[in-house]
Amino acid sequence: MFFNRLIGENMDIPVSVGPMNEGERVRGPDMYVELAGPKSYGFELTRVVDNASDKVEIIGKDIDKMEEGSRTPFAVIVNVSGDSLEEELEGVLERKIHEIFNYIEGVMHLNQRDSLWVRINKDSFNKGLRLKHIGEVIKEVYKGEFPFIKHVDVIIITDPDKVKEELEKAREIYRKRDDRTKNLHEEDVDVFYGCIMCQSFAPTHVCVITPDRPALCGGINYLDARAASKIDPEGAIFEIPKGNCIDEVKGIYDAVNDVVYEKSQGAIKAIALHSVLDKPSTSCGCFEAITFYIPEVDGFGVVDRKFKGETPLGIPFSVLAGQCSGGQQVEGFCGMSIAYMKSSKFFQGDGGWERITWMPKELKDNVKDVIPEDLVDKIATEEDVSNIEELQNFLKERGHPIVEKWESMATVEEESTMKEEHMEEYEEKGEGAESVEYIEESTESQGSEITVPTMYLPGGFGGLPSDVKIILKNAVIKVEEIIIVREGNSKNKDN
Ligand code: SF4
Ligand SMILES: [Zn+2]
Repeated sequence: MFFNRLIGENMDIPVSVGPMNEGERVRGPDMYVELAGPKSYGFELTRVVDNASDKVEIIGKDIDKMEEGSRTPFAVIVNVSGDSLEEELEGVLERKIHEIFNYIEGVMHLNQRDSLWVRINKDSFNKGLRLKHIGEVIKEVYKGEFPFIKHVDVIIITDPDKVKEELEKAREIYRKRDDRTKNLHEEDVDVFYGCIMCQSFAPTHVCVITPDRPALCGGINYLDARAASKIDPEGAIFEIPKGNCIDEVKGIYDAVNDVVYEKSQGAIKAIALHSVLDKPSTSCGCFEAITFYIPEVDGFGVVDRKFKGETPLGIPFSVLAGQCSGGQQVEGFCGMSIAYMKSSKFFQGDGGWERITWMPKELKDNVKDVIPEDLVDKIATEEDVSNIEELQNFLKERGHPIVEKWESMATVEEESTMKEEHMEEYEEKGEGAESVEYIEESTESQGSEITVPTMYLPGGFGGLPSDVKIILKNAVIKVEEIIIVREGNSKNKDN
């Protein structure tokens, strides 16, 4: 393993470095310092330049000058140079920073770009670990792992004003990168790309990256992935043939499913690129935002990592994240990048923007340009509503298109009530059903649970007598597989 060679021969670092440290968490009480993170600011950025010179530079204090338990703005800029380096590799090389930090004993790195979050634990600090060591590790791993990189400069900034100044420049670079795939679509290409870099944390997670769907970490778009797989075909990013399209709107492709099945070790049988409700993509934990189903309005909310308040469900981003991370495929929840919201295929399999009902104000302002104009004022934020009831009222008042769907749902409900009454009539007359069972409403939704507004189970269900009818109303059900039998007995099987 190149790490042993690298750390043993080239460097003098007081802690261990290697994959065995991946997945290590640094909790509050063990933390010596926190760098960037949700309560501060910072970023990481890799750039291809002409003239890197193998230097490691610290602008601001190293951690031995920081107070124990403190928090500091933080930036890492990695400049690389080499003959075959293209700008398109920047995103993928930048994503490597995440892995490298996590290889270092006692260091935890979460997220990416301008949401990075680093903690260093007391043990490693006491062993003598400093930022300059981290800079050296980044430099050596870049050069060791990517032979086409000839020189690397690592600039670590902890001076708050300097971080702030450079942060704006970095954001502009991220924006430009994301814009490069704007005019490219799934129908224009024959291959997609997959990434399994996060399997050390989420063993069944596979990101499928298409021109319309950048990776959920927000760090790798289609062109980044293409450049990475070209330069390192055996690496964590690989080509996926598109194969035959099974469902164009949801974005289901047979060959993609085969690769996802194989790379998830058989855990995930199929994914729909553009659906939250039906076979959503798996989520590792690095997602920039989560789209989540709100059964009471039959629509969706979107919450991003930066939002610290509660969603209308009464829970914050962190709790939602816990429900759908780790490489799981959880119907009703899907981790994604903010850039995906700018895609014309943004969850089109579920109705796209027409079903988005809530998002944090800051995020809404951020993506305002891509929200269909007539919907902008119909999507609520934390400033408009704070719970489901208020959300329902807001959507009604503003005439959100989802409300029309409620009306048709109400017709179904009405019909169901009529059927119930009818059955009661039968009961009185002793002609039909003996009893009607209800499973009472529950507002909790977690894990692999789904919520059904109204659902009839067929006579004889679960071995009950065929004349016992079961109707589920707003029921939360935990299932591995559902088979819904429609009128005419055509079967629609879903995992
Ligand atoms: S989130 Fe996806 S694309 Fe990003 S590093 Fe992880 S596996 Fe790769
Ligand atoms: Zn991840």
